[in-house]
Amino acid sequence: FIAFESVRKSYDGINYVVRGLDLDIAEGEFLTLLGPSGSGKTTTLMMLAGFETPTSGSILLGGQHIEKVPAYDRNIGMVFQNYALFPHMTVGENVAFPLKMRRMNRSEVTQRVRKALDMVRMSGFEGRKPAQLSGGQQQRIALARALVFEPRLILMDEPLGALDKQLREHMQLEIKHLHDRLGINIVYVTHDQSEALTMSDRVGVFSDGILQQVAPPDRLYEMPDNLFVAGFVGENN
Ligand code: ATP
Repeated sequence: FIAFESVRKSYDGINYVVRGLDLDIAEGEFLTLLGPSGSGKTTTLMMLAGFETPTSGSILLGGQHIEKVPAYDRNIGMVFQNYALFPHMTVGENVAFPLKMRRMNRSEVTQRVRKALDMVRMSGFEGRKPAQLSGGQQQRIALARALVFEPRLILMDEPLGALDKQLREHMQLEIKHLHDRLGINIVYVTHDQSEALTMSDRVGVFSDGILQQVAPPDRLYEMPDNLFVAGFVGENN
């Protein structure tokens, strides 16, 4: 469904922050990119979102070169740690925003917003402003905003980074359930090993712009390909 083929990325033409990435992501898969700060995870996600272009190599989405797929047709939802809600809009208006951008009619907007809020268990909060919500509730609204146009792929970059431990663990399970129920593709970025191992179908471990290993969590844990993977995955566990 998604294929990275020999993708390399340099911001300055000298140093490569992604150094030859080959990766296939299956339809409906929950794939997590795990690695230390600066290892190239966000850059990889940004290329998939179309916000950055590879310096060389290509990215295919459903068999097509991603740069040839118009932005709206890519159908990608995004949830980032700092991807804040619009503070002056209500919850309902925030979630409706991507639909308004797509010029959807009002009754369909109402119906879809209701459904998206229901998915993240935030029905009844339509009229509130973001400032009147807890961090976890705000993050759920951001998730509803990403789900509302029924994307085929959701990209998440450290979406739970700002939450306390208890809420983070709760949200991890919610995101995983949502994925299992909707069968949507998720590409998730984190530097938190336990988060990656709990949620994902497969985890790709990055270091220094190189994908060291990609495997299901149990395999990564039991049969790491090298010392970096063994050390990084084993940390804090
Ligand atoms: P983190 O977990 O800290 O976000 P990361 O693994 O996501 O790290 P990237 O954000 O992809 O890593 O960054 C990889 C490298 O590319 C870093 O050395 C970073 O400084 C550099 N970099 C990222 N974005 C840019 C940019 N827009 N211009 C120049 N250099 C950049």
